[in-house]
Amino acid sequence: MFFSGTFLPTTSTLLKFKMAEVIPFSFSSRETIFNRITAEPLDVLIIGGGITGAGIALDMASRGLRVGLAEKQDFAEGTSSRSTKLIHGGLRYLKQFEIGLVREVGLERAMLHKNAPHLVTPEHMLLPVIKGGSLSPFTTSIALLIYEWLAGVRKEEQRIMLSKKQTADQEPLLNKEILKAGAIYYEYRTDDARLVIEVLKTANAYGARSLNYTEVVDFMYENGKLTGAKLKDLLTGREVPVKAKYIVNAAGPWVDKLRDKDHSLKGKRLHHTKGVHLVVPNSRLPLKQSVYFDTADGRMVFAIPRGKTTYIGTTDTEYKDLLEEPHVTRKDVDYLLRAVNRIFPEVQLTVHDISSSWAGLRPLIHQDGKSPSELSRKDEIFIAPSGLISIAGGKLTGYRMMAKRITDLVMHKLEKEEHLKYKKCITPSICLSGGEFAFTHALDAFADSLFAEVSDTGIARIQIKDLTHKYGSHTKDILKKFPLYILKNNDVTLALVFSELSYCIENEMVVSLNDFLIRRSGRLYFERETLSYLAPMVLEEMGEILNWNEADKKRNWETFEKKYREAVTFV
Ligand code: FAD
Repeated sequence: MFFSGTFLPTTSTLLKFKMAEVIPFSFSSRETIFNRITAEPLDVLIIGGGITGAGIALDMASRGLRVGLAEKQDFAEGTSSRSTKLIHGGLRYLKQFEIGLVREVGLERAMLHKNAPHLVTPEHMLLPVIKGGSLSPFTTSIALLIYEWLAGVRKEEQRIMLSKKQTADQEPLLNKEILKAGAIYYEYRTDDARLVIEVLKTANAYGARSLNYTEVVDFMYENGKLTGAKLKDLLTGREVPVKAKYIVNAAGPWVDKLRDKDHSLKGKRLHHTKGVHLVVPNSRLPLKQSVYFDTADGRMVFAIPRGKTTYIGTTDTEYKDLLEEPHVTRKDVDYLLRAVNRIFPEVQLTVHDISSSWAGLRPLIHQDGKSPSELSRKDEIFIAPSGLISIAGGKLTGYRMMAKRITDLVMHKLEKEEHLKYKKCITPSICLSGGEFAFTHALDAFADSLFAEVSDTGIARIQIKDLTHKYGSHTKDILKKFPLYILKNNDVTLALVFSELSYCIENEMVVSLNDFLIRRSGRLYFERETLSYLAPMVLEEMGEILNWNEADKKRNWETFEKKYREAVTFV
């Protein structure tokens, strides 16, 4: 059942470099990781623990480089937990004639599905063709054909064109007054924050040392060249210098702030645009599948069922405010609700139907005269006179190729300057942590076998399925903790949540209540209604495991409550 190719560092892959020391990816390792990062000069210090930084850490560590990564918030707390959560071929980029981008991300999604089948799964998508929409039935068919060719779409996932009646049968909620026809094609769904964590766990197994809540506050120079940076541990307040041959700035929306700190913010700059998603209960928008539909202003929006909810997004508007705190405004809400109610007129959603929401910032490259939706999603690399290497733009979907480009560049520099032997990228054959399955059917069989083992405990099949789609093979480790917790609580759901929590604290660097409830488990977005009961229990259990005092608990509770409220507050 398990994938038989190369996956996590096998002894043979590691011996080719040097056996990486095994350091658990947990809060209890924080001191050890700090010591390893500061003890001797790194080959590369990476700034930013979103998908870009995580991907770079994995590529570099798997090529034998000594890598450290600093993230000032939690891992993925920037843009990489606030996307549409699709690994996609970028049909919309075809409209902008970004042929190279469509081809690259199309091929990437197949590779990511192979390397992380628990996290990257095919999603059947309905594309209605409507009166006044951007495409006719004929141009939709041609566009999808070109897309399939460019993106190397597998035969079984190729488009199916539908008549008006077939489209309406496929999705009865669609507005028949404006419906002309439709098509079915495939995108891939993911959990962005979990993808970041699994990439970082894999990188950790290869020897990359990553710290959350650790900010790069200053750079160090000799003769105008970068030699390192000052890291601030935001949990203790201490500051430590770190020496590094190269520094890679993968700070997403914050890239220009670091270029500015380096006095190299010249030429091209970032252009931030905000994207918002709304979540409603499935019962209020009971779609039979995901739908990608036209809006009245010529854009396109997704409506994607997930668990007991459906999420809708995204907007694309100029953003010039605080980078840490993008908010969902009433204007964003009205825009998305108008779009949904136009295409699914029977549902007539209102603001009171919204069960959660999130807003994220796209770190795009500015292009004169282009509107937010017209800006290219291509990534670019900037090399400063100081040696600071910055990477901006891009997509979650293209993270592996972005990492390859940066690592190739650094490897060539090290080869020239340090006579280090150039090593080729091996990430196409690295299976991500938890993903050791030969595609999704093997994962389903794994879930079935786990369920058979625990079916007499009261755990439901759907609970096991949910866990395997988040944690893959690690679900087994989570379930090992269950007997202890069920003895303590006699509440199956609570015991399962505590087992998951305990796994995340020991293996996923969970430090705060929000790390677990928002980014590791996604509960604030997709199961918010369960939190009035679960969150206080989780707080107590975390306090016990992490030895929190009353002040720690209060701080954690207040920051959670703020996010809990904000998810349904729109000003
Ligand atoms: P981030 O995830 O923001 O990571 C940068 C990190 O750097 C942050 O966590 C930040 O805290 C840290 N940092 C900043 N300064 C410092 C410092 N001084 N010291 C230490 N750390 C620092 N792409 C897709 O492929 N599919 C999609 O469906 C999709 N949907 C999207 C929808 C929306 C609304 C948005 C906004 C984007 C979407 N994208 C999508 C794009 C994708 O999400 C981003 O391209 C990607 O997440 C950017 O990742 P990043 O690592 O570059 O940035």
